[in-house]
Amino acid sequence: MTRIALARRPDGMPVPEDFSRETAPLPRPAEGEVLVATEYLSLDPYMRGRMQDVKSYAPSVDIGGTMTGQGVGRVLASKAEGFAKGDRVTGMTGWASHAVLPAGELRKLDADVSPTSALGVLGMPGFTAWTGLKKYGRPEAGQTLVVGAATGPVGSMVGQLAKLAGMRTVAVAGGAEKCALARDTFGFDATVDHRAHDDAEGLRAALAEAAPDGVDIYWENVGGKLLEAVMPLMNTHGRIPLCGTIAWYGGFEDVADRLPGFMRSMLVKRLQLTGLIIFDHWDAFPQFLEEVTPKVKAGEIAFLEDIAEGLETAPQTFISMLQGGNRGKQIVKI
Ligand code: NDP
Repeated sequence: MTRIALARRPDGMPVPEDFSRETAPLPRPAEGEVLVATEYLSLDPYMRGRMQDVKSYAPSVDIGGTMTGQGVGRVLASKAEGFAKGDRVTGMTGWASHAVLPAGELRKLDADVSPTSALGVLGMPGFTAWTGLKKYGRPEAGQTLVVGAATGPVGSMVGQLAKLAGMRTVAVAGGAEKCALARDTFGFDATVDHRAHDDAEGLRAALAEAAPDGVDIYWENVGGKLLEAVMPLMNTHGRIPLCGTIAWYGGFEDVADRLPGFMRSMLVKRLQLTGLIIFDHWDAFPQFLEEVTPKVKAGEIAFLEDIAEGLETAPQTFISMLQGGNRGKQIVKI
């Protein structure tokens, strides 16, 4: 089997040398375990955090350890009830061609939905959008939502669910091509290209035009200059589901001088900013699948996947995704 390990902890943006490719004999399942041959690996921004040796909501990857990740694959051998050779499953395979996992950590996939959808639109990112929007965004018809990383699996689901709830939706995306995707594929009412603006002021002016009635929900995927641009545009009683801050995953400049302004906006506008970690919410996953799967099958919710070829491409593909190189949910075909 082949696996991608963490060779050293990155300094800022990861580089290929932070990863190593290792080979080992095929592992064997013990009683209650299943051997899975990975077909597709999900690449997600949270993995950047796992490369760091800091205390967080989940443990970091050890040096030499296999990079964390969710995969979809076929059962090769099973010593667990309920799983047979050939079953298609999903679980935390890591960046590896094969993995042995306890049966309780695997989920069998329906044959009538595409296997890769379990990693994006009908998986963790889609579920994150559905959960956070309902619980913390609380969409209201006629109000306005802004979301960054808008063509990714989280942002595109947030935008589409908000639109279905009757909101005006504004996408912030990197480059003209992604803005066109946001509009044409995901139905956003307006788009703003963050790469066309060097500073928060220019970005704010573009956003003010796209959201003439102000912003009621700012879905936070990004942080950085986008957060700075949006804050003064927030309406009273606005909601900010805090999902990610990808602009800061490699480190950040000193923002202490902006903090008093942020706090003042939070206070005078009575804003509600809520941290969201999807692992707290897994109980509702069956309800999400029940509600959203028919919408995906009926084409009412669109999704986009970017599938790279070969486990060995995972490090470079991951680095590229962190910088906006992906078009939709980033997956690697093993
Ligand atoms: P995406 O597929 O959208 O990939 C990340 C995108 O971030 C890039 O394509 C790029 O889009 C954008 N980006 C990168 N750097 C910047 C920057 N400096 N400014 C603006 N945009 C930037 O990822 P996901 O949909 O999987 O995840 C989106 C966010 O949600 C991430 O922050 C992630 O960590 C978070 N998340 C949090 C979860 C939780 O439980 N809290 C669960 C799942 C995801 P573009 O080219 O358009 O700029």
